[in-house]
Amino acid sequence: MRTPNSLTCREAVDLITDYLDAALPSPLLTTYERHLTACPECDIFLRQIRSTIWLTHRLALQPAPPGTREAPLRVFRAWKNGDQTILHDTFDI
Ligand SMILES: [Zn+2]
Repeated sequence: MRTPNSLTCREAVDLITDYLDAALPSPLLTTYERHLTACPECDIFLRQIRSTIWLTHRLALQPAPPGTREAPLRVFRAWKNGDQTILHDTFDI
């Protein structure tokens, strides 16, 4: 959707990171926000990106279950040391 005197959706998507970083200069910020008001698809997309960022930060705060990191490292080290069967035994391939 192209709104009058503003951005295309593609242009709005390209600017989303700068918008979220509060790095858009004032005239472009006004144009961007005008596009969001007029374009429900881009508004929804921005909300989805914000939700994804929020969820990603929440996940990063959760400690990994015990063994989560050790198991793949153990398999990699065994494979690197020549144990070709470890991949078959671990991943059933
Ligand atoms: Zn749009």
